[in-house]
Amino acid sequence: MLGYSANELKSMGIADITHPDDVKLSFNQLRNLKEGTKDRVTFEKRFVRKNGSLLHGRLSATANRDARGALTSTVSIVEDITATKKAEARLAEHQDELVHAQRIATLGELVSGIAHELNQPLTAIENFASGSIRRLREPQADLGLINDTLAKVVNQTRRASEVIRHLRDLSRSGASHFAPVDVNRIVKGAVELIAMGARPGEYDIALQLSPSMPDVMADAIQIEQVILNLVRNAGDAMASMPVSDRRDIVSSATNGAHVIVSVIDHGCGVHRDHADKLFDSFFTTKHDGIGMGLSICRWIMENHDGRIWHTANPNGGTTFRVELVRADLERGPTATAGS
Ligand code: ADP
Repeated sequence: MLGYSANELKSMGIADITHPDDVKLSFNQLRNLKEGTKDRVTFEKRFVRKNGSLLHGRLSATANRDARGALTSTVSIVEDITATKKAEARLAEHQDELVHAQRIATLGELVSGIAHELNQPLTAIENFASGSIRRLREPQADLGLINDTLAKVVNQTRRASEVIRHLRDLSRSGASHFAPVDVNRIVKGAVELIAMGARPGEYDIALQLSPSMPDVMADAIQIEQVILNLVRNAGDAMASMPVSDRRDIVSSATNGAHVIVSVIDHGCGVHRDHADKLFDSFFTTKHDGIGMGLSICRWIMENHDGRIWHTANPNGGTTFRVELVRADLERGPTATAGS
């Protein structure tokens, strides 16, 4: 099985035929037989063949004992499960490739949308500006009309620079740096940033953070960007309400293997016809909106093997939730963003 002769094996120990990372496991399992805590053990380990290649084996060992219970010999059977293990690894790799391809597709869709979205204001700016030049050359130039047209140029320029601002946010999300992070700290940082930008009394953000939160494996800047976006949107949803009624809650909690951050607002709510479109690139209902915020949030959450979704509150308003996997249970992001 391993390529050694019976004679060669006689002079070899467990460590000589075992992958270094599995030596401790092998000794621990066999100690159970020696010390009498178990009469039979079954475990999987990697053997090293004489030619250096690996053999994945399922080893079952049974103890033979004398009348006093002392170990006299062990009988071991090794089943070669290398082919099964290789098939499992191939499947996992294939699944990772699929997830990666899906992320690239989402990013590609976003980027081609951005190109389209930038092209529109640029074309408009060109038309308005050349129209104004033509009018200025006329002997009786209508300065009022030219003034209006130039105001439109300014508007379109603002729109283009807003798209570029989002693009910069996105490129900041490009190279991911995953590390165990405390979600509560990220939430507090994001809310502080918002509070610094808000005018006094503009709205009230209450924090309901669970005191004992496990770390999540995440890119802190990207997750902060998600929270910032959700809290800003919550503020926008309450913009038409009296200042005294504007309040939202950011809460954190653990739910099994996951950590969940919720942003709960008491704003206008999501129209039934729009509920499925919110995360689409460039979907917006705001007159000055771009519609990239939530699609970037969705992309970031996919990059974290996490989720983002929204539900209507029973008493009005909307709750957006983001779900991340606890760092102690995380098997690691399957692909690096932008790679
Ligand atoms: P933008 O803020 O530029 O419109 P987003 O992608 O962040 O882009 O949001 C898309 C749309 O989702 C918004 O225009 C709005 O209609 C809806 N939306 C997002 N958050 C909320 C919320 N908290 N309450 C109601 N509607 C929301």
